[in-house]
Amino acid sequence: MTATVIRDVPKQLFIAGSWQDAESDRTLSVDNPATGEELCQVADASPADGRRAAEAAVAAQPSWAATPPRVRSEILRRAYDIIVSRTEELALLMTLEMGKPLAEARGEVAYAAEFFRWFSEEAVRIDGGMTTAPDGKNRIMVTRQPVGPCLLITPWNFPLAMGTRKIGPAVAAGCTMVLKPAPQTPLSTLALAAILTEAGLPDGVLNIVTTTEAAGVVEPLVRGGQIRKLSFTGSTPVGRILLAQSADTVVRTSLELGGNAPVIVFDDAALDVAVEGTLLAKMRNMGESCCAANRIFVHTSIADEFASRLATRMAALTVGPGTEPGIDVGPLIDTAGRDKVHNLVLDAVEQGAKVLTGGELPDGPGYFYPPTVLTNVSTDSAIMHTEVFGPVAAILTFDDEDEVVAAANDTEFGLASYLFTQGLDRGLRVSERLESGMIGLNTGLVSNPAAPFGGIKQSGLGREGGRVGIDEFLEYKYVAVPVRDGRD
Ligand code: ADP
Repeated sequence: MTATVIRDVPKQLFIAGSWQDAESDRTLSVDNPATGEELCQVADASPADGRRAAEAAVAAQPSWAATPPRVRSEILRRAYDIIVSRTEELALLMTLEMGKPLAEARGEVAYAAEFFRWFSEEAVRIDGGMTTAPDGKNRIMVTRQPVGPCLLITPWNFPLAMGTRKIGPAVAAGCTMVLKPAPQTPLSTLALAAILTEAGLPDGVLNIVTTTEAAGVVEPLVRGGQIRKLSFTGSTPVGRILLAQSADTVVRTSLELGGNAPVIVFDDAALDVAVEGTLLAKMRNMGESCCAANRIFVHTSIADEFASRLATRMAALTVGPGTEPGIDVGPLIDTAGRDKVHNLVLDAVEQGAKVLTGGELPDGPGYFYPPTVLTNVSTDSAIMHTEVFGPVAAILTFDDEDEVVAAANDTEFGLASYLFTQGLDRGLRVSERLESGMIGLNTGLVSNPAAPFGGIKQSGLGREGGRVGIDEFLEYKYVAVPVRDGRD
């Protein structure tokens, strides 16, 4: 099936409803991180291609905004059905270009599809209202309108779900868009564009530019004055650049940026729940997730037991190509990603950390890294202040609640936090005190299309999913209507 899946996926830019080569005929290489070998080439857009894509989105905006909500809704619903029916092909495609094990890729297909189902339901529930002003004269009529053409930028770690999480609400709201996927994983996005076309999405509503020249393609669009909304998922440094660029033309921005998630395991936690929850929060997607557990704080009285149980579970995970059966941990995305993870481990060890399992760079092709557990980690280690994006669990100990809450909050990030306790008061109290947009209370998984996903502090702006996800793509329109009493 591998050869067929790669052969069948579109490899060109998608502009105004047609598949096109880049103007320069340039292509970029998509590689398999499990082997380091090339899978195929796809078009590599220049800034001129980017401008054409934006013009197509701008041209399609008026008629798309006028398309009935039910029509928009049913396109998303059809796309949901198609994605689900092609779970195997899409999962394999994602595993090949990104590395995650097939079982996780299938999970992501379901998660990704769910954003289309959710937003197909939201498309027909866009609200408005009419009220009487306090003076009794004016009527205040409020409607919602699409914000306008959007620029969507996605990362490589969840190639399908990051696309549907942005395309879903944009389609539901009546916005047209240009989507730029990460150059490492363009294939899932291209497959998604083909599915949406099959589902009936009109030409020009979704335009895809794959490129190695992210900054060169994106900046003119952000500054160009026609794109009215930027939705970005990626690193905090790039998010800062895009926010600064958006300031000049006052583009509305949603940013879903980096994290440095703490896990807190209290002495009254159910230990098996805490170990399994931490394993999930750490190891989902090989740790390449912005909500991945980064700093694990365990109460001193249970720290040895917890660390040894977690190390046993981590050591038992099977590492290998995600396409093979029974694999738990695939390769990291590329050499740079793996070197970064290994250097964080070396630095922590130099500062006194003890390796309970893993920690050694394997030989051979592919960018594999073993599940690793570190204890006795110094708070000065780089791993405490850096988003690891890899399968390394760094464990620290604590003695009291105030101390651990302060330590957990001691970061510029504020995306996800996890805490394990059987105490209801403590669970709610600490959830309120933790500075993050999302909390996993006795669970290691927070992602859910029906929930508002996003961060505070330097982890981002705005929310994706949930009831509020569509708001990011809508503007309020208020019409003042004086109603005379008829006796004037
Ligand atoms: P990561 O380190 O996870 O690759 P990035 O923030 O670099 O995160 O990338 C996320 C997305 O942002 C990708 O689609 C990437 O191509 C894009 N990107 C990177 N640099 C820029 C930039 N200067 N302007 C716009 N997009 C960018």
